[in-house]
Amino acid sequence: MKASSLTFAPGWQAHLGANLPAADRLPNVGDLGTVAEISLEELGGRPFLRETTGDWLSGREFLDRARRFASALAASGVVPGSRVVLTGGNSADLAAAVVGVFLAGAVLVAANPAYSDREFEHVIKDSRPSAILCDEDLLVRVEALASSAPPPEPIDGPGSDLPRPEVPIRVLSLRRSAERGDDWRGGSRASGRSWPAMIAYTSGTTGAPKGALLTHGNLLASARSVALAWRWSAEDRLLLCLPLFHMHGLGVGLIGSLFMGNAVVLFPRFEPAALAAAISQERATMFFGVPAMYRRLVDEPGFADFARLRLMVSGSAPLPPALFERIRSQVGAAPVERYGMSETAMNVSNPYEGLRKPGTVGLPLPGVEVAIDSTGEILVRGENVFAGYLGNPGATNERFDGGWFRTGDMGSVDADGYLRIDGRSSDLIISGGFNVYPREVEDQLREHPSVADAAVVGVQSDRWGEEVVAFVVPSAEGELDADALRAFSGKLLAPYKVPKRIIPVEALPRNAMGKVLAYELRRMAAEG
Ligand code: AMP
Repeated sequence: MKASSLTFAPGWQAHLGANLPAADRLPNVGDLGTVAEISLEELGGRPFLRETTGDWLSGREFLDRARRFASALAASGVVPGSRVVLTGGNSADLAAAVVGVFLAGAVLVAANPAYSDREFEHVIKDSRPSAILCDEDLLVRVEALASSAPPPEPIDGPGSDLPRPEVPIRVLSLRRSAERGDDWRGGSRASGRSWPAMIAYTSGTTGAPKGALLTHGNLLASARSVALAWRWSAEDRLLLCLPLFHMHGLGVGLIGSLFMGNAVVLFPRFEPAALAAAISQERATMFFGVPAMYRRLVDEPGFADFARLRLMVSGSAPLPPALFERIRSQVGAAPVERYGMSETAMNVSNPYEGLRKPGTVGLPLPGVEVAIDSTGEILVRGENVFAGYLGNPGATNERFDGGWFRTGDMGSVDADGYLRIDGRSSDLIISGGFNVYPREVEDQLREHPSVADAAVVGVQSDRWGEEVVAFVVPSAEGELDADALRAFSGKLLAPYKVPKRIIPVEALPRNAMGKVLAYELRRMAAEG
């Protein structure tokens, strides 16, 4: 990739205040296990984490629990570099097990507990774990899947130097491992920032999920840049209801809190009323959510209480400008939209101080370089960018270009240097030879009072190559009139962008992070 063919997004520096957070005390610490130990020991008897249904665990209690997990893993044959699959609903045990995996020097594979057998099988076969830690209710199923996994073969490319596991795979219950009182004497630890920390499985909307191999350095770099940008401090208290198997909840929420040593209220799931109540009860300062959560929160009577927070973050999917404005008018403060992905952790964010622009994801985070190539694809470079796809040199080479990572997202940079994401390159519609970005049409449709939500996809068409098809969730107000809606679109959009078909649906198909499943919509549209 020639630098001359790239448009660079300018950096963040102008928005960094002089007061750097305490995270800067630890710039050279090499691994997440050590970072967690330092923060948790420093917290000592002060609170670190509370499940909504339980009591506060102090820093020391949480670290003790994490060490019990590390010792249970070591007793099960886990050595530095072994993969450990961790799966379960959000709980203090799950969070402590994350730290236990790092203390043991092992590589964390966080899996969605709602995976189907096929999805679990793929992750087990691909990541070749030595052990699986899971919730009690998954034990029997996961044991059966683990015992039928094929013997691990050597792999090529990223991760090929990781130790090959012994078989059989050990399957451990999270709760029982946390209760075991073994002393953890500390084993051989991960060695430095280049050591693999985690394998994050991509959502797999275009084929089998790939395992993104992230190093300790990648995750620490991202935690530090986000902490700097959002003025995160040890005094913060985070409301965390994002799942801990995904980068947003795990990489930003939990690892960020371990990095800064701030307290966390952990919710088993998203419950708007419980969240609103916790804001005053817990004196919370920060909430991280996805747009689908905000869409429900704006209908909650207690949402105005979010005004007590100093920071509301939205990410993982586009935050429609109309929703941004509703949040701002109800809470009196604008949400901070940011952009990241499994392969890179966090890349770009709207500023904490300074203008937060609706419809944009803001400016490159400290230490992250962002560029747009001549096709409009967003490229990213920085210490946050992952090491490659586990055992998949082909996919890795395809996505790296002269040191830059091709994100697969299309975007543009405005005159103030703010990045706007137009959508995944795979979702781009080419209709009658013209490019149509679904996001532009969706944002516009949502402005109509009869529309609560909308998603746009391209569907094969003999006449147009692809035609624009919109799925629309009607709002409570009024009837949905497809012709009137098309006429409304026609006033604001070029004719080739106006949906050829408008299909009303009760709800849009979404994954666990609230991302719309475009392939599912294309299937529905093709079926008529
Ligand atoms: P995942 O790897 O599951 O975290 O998905 C990453 C993808 O989510 C990115 O490549 C983007 O397509 C999308 N994404 C994340 N944050 C945003 C955002 N703020 N606006 C639009 N898309 C986003």
